[in-house]
Amino acid sequence: MMSVELYRRLRDETGRDPGWKGVGSLRVASGPARLRELQDRERWARRFGLDVGLISAREARERFPLMTDASLEGALWLPSDGHVDPAGLATALTDGARARGAKVLTGARIVAITVGGGRVRGVVVDSGPIACEVVVNAAGIWAAEVGRMVGIGIPVVPIAHQYLVTGPIDGVWRDVPVLRDPDRLVYFREEVGGLVVGGFERRPVAWGLDGIPADFTHRLLPPDWERFAPLMEGAVARIPALATAKAIRLVNGPEAYTPDGEFILGEATKVGGFFVAAGFCAHGIAGAGGVGKVIAAWILDGHPPMDLRRMDVGRFGPAGREPARAAADAIRVYATYYDLREVTAR
Ligand SMILES: Cc1cc2nc3c(=O)[nH]c(=O)nc-3n(C[C@H](O)[C@H](O)[C@H](O)COP(=O)(O)OP(=O)(O)OC[C@H]3O[C@@H](n4cnc5c(N)ncnc54)[C@H](O)[C@@H]3O)c2cc1C
Repeated sequence: MMSVELYRRLRDETGRDPGWKGVGSLRVASGPARLRELQDRERWARRFGLDVGLISAREARERFPLMTDASLEGALWLPSDGHVDPAGLATALTDGARARGAKVLTGARIVAITVGGGRVRGVVVDSGPIACEVVVNAAGIWAAEVGRMVGIGIPVVPIAHQYLVTGPIDGVWRDVPVLRDPDRLVYFREEVGGLVVGGFERRPVAWGLDGIPADFTHRLLPPDWERFAPLMEGAVARIPALATAKAIRLVNGPEAYTPDGEFILGEATKVGGFFVAAGFCAHGIAGAGGVGKVIAAWILDGHPPMDLRRMDVGRFGPAGREPARAAADAIRVYATYYDLREVTAR
């Protein structure tokens, strides 16, 4: 909710368009058990003031006509949802920060963090030292590496995540909603008249467990078509037009997963001023607005603005979690991401 609120106003505030498209989203039920789960989700979301509604299969197809009605039981419609251009968002956020006095250093690698008296005192970048009182470790798949600089174990596990980008498809228009079909493990959104088709496969693979290569910056992994094939099968079953769509590219990138599927946030108890905002489990873009807001408040006020204990950086103990166990747990989190689950108001 906080992210949507921020992304909506960024263009006016910064003069940069982050490419926010508030197209809404549909989460479809391909069976009665899923429909019951969606009913629970609807009740849960409404308690938090979210405008969501369960709609019929017919209404869902009116919003996304390319999907078949095969085993379609209904859908949860979230009108405030949407998608944003990640590069446009990063540019708008940095421009906004600069306009408020922030200095942005690009291409500067932190090689050490200075600690004294139990607190952060500064960082050392390749061009020299910089004194500071607070460091936010938002280093994505490198967060564990940066944590080790101050002796903090941060169990992020890079897991390869893929999506396919298709060429234009008749019947896909600019404002078509985001579509998620958890029973088929796939999600869809519009891109340049075609679809982005992604998903959470049952046999994911971790990557870089022995260390991330030093030159792995702004890079992707080679596409793994074999691993993507079962997802594509599910995608075509829901949207038959995909069978004849042109595949433009299969994007494969490592994403930071955690052993319990929750973000890793907050100040390390052992090192004052060392904050972590990492382990976003393929929700870093969706969550960035909210995470930025709560971490900023936490730094200023000395405590989180809400109960974030289930995401606390200290929950795995001071050493983090034994790497092999962390990897096995994170893989399980990824592989079961779309499983049916009990929806509780945590
Ligand atoms: C294929 C794919 C699809 C995805 N789809 C979605 C989606 O639909 N929705 C969604 O919300 N999320 C999605 N994600 C996840 C999302 O991209 C990430 O969660 C998000 O980009 C993480 O942002 P971050 O800032 O934490 O990490 P990153 O974007 O990885 O940034 C970390 C930065 O830290 C820098 N860094 C590392 N070490 C150091 C150091 N020592 N010194 C200085 N800098 C350092 C790195 O260079 C990097 O710039 C997807 C991910 C993938 C791979």
